[in-house]
Amino acid sequence: MLRLFATLIVGALLATSTFAQETKRSITNIAGDVYRFQNKFHFNIFVVTPQGVVVTDPINKEAAEWLKAEIGKITDQPIKYLIYSHSHGDHASGGAVFTDTAEVVAHKNAPEAIDGVTPKTRFDDNHTIEIGGKTVELTYLGKGHGDDLIAMVVRPENVAFAVDAVSVNRLPFRDFPRADIGGIINQIKTVEGLDFDILAPGHGAMGVKADATAHREYVEKLMALVKAGLKGGKSVDDLVTELTLDEYADWGSFKNFREPNIRGMARWLKQSGGN
Ligand SMILES: [Zn+2]
Repeated sequence: MLRLFATLIVGALLATSTFAQETKRSITNIAGDVYRFQNKFHFNIFVVTPQGVVVTDPINKEAAEWLKAEIGKITDQPIKYLIYSHSHGDHASGGAVFTDTAEVVAHKNAPEAIDGVTPKTRFDDNHTIEIGGKTVELTYLGKGHGDDLIAMVVRPENVAFAVDAVSVNRLPFRDFPRADIGGIINQIKTVEGLDFDILAPGHGAMGVKADATAHREYVEKLMALVKAGLKGGKSVDDLVTELTLDEYADWGSFKNFREPNIRGMARWLKQSGGN
């Protein structure tokens, strides 16, 4: 029943997402007191409680300033926490906008300072924040996409925020830049092991846990196909021609990222000795 309800909510959000794509910045209510902020192709979530607001990735200074002003229209409460999903600059810039009131939280592997902001709270595997009747559960995802990536689950709404390692019906970004692809598979498995109903990624459409599984299966399938091709003496150019990946043709970024996904997988297999 809960799953059906979550699916209905996500369906409603998907129906409105075409509008969101056309706007540079927007805020959508995901469920209960959990909101999703879009800045062009990047998304975060934030949580409004009677004891303060929890924000996640600031994205950049201008986005964070816009978001701070918009949150001020929703609640009089100050922003009490800023939580970084990871330290990559496209998600983690501009955090200083929130540090007048917010305690900054990041994984222990994050740099000393993230765009000039020094996290006060660092954690290893898990950390839980309780505020105003909400619980935000932070889980380290291990090395893969970076080495300081965490997932967050907000309760009681059971909304998961997971960035970059996982997306919904959308191919992974370009050629897996900077990524340990074997690690990414494990990061997605860790996300799949969390208890949540709604998945809010850092890019693209919202979904449910089954979408994280489908994303992992895509990466695993791509790995198996490229590995078998290379073992069989095929060149990477051959694989780009042969691996049409038709069953994913309706996924987002298929036209742009199919070829770089194959090339990035081949590069990683060769570098990692997995070939
Ligand atoms: Zn990243």
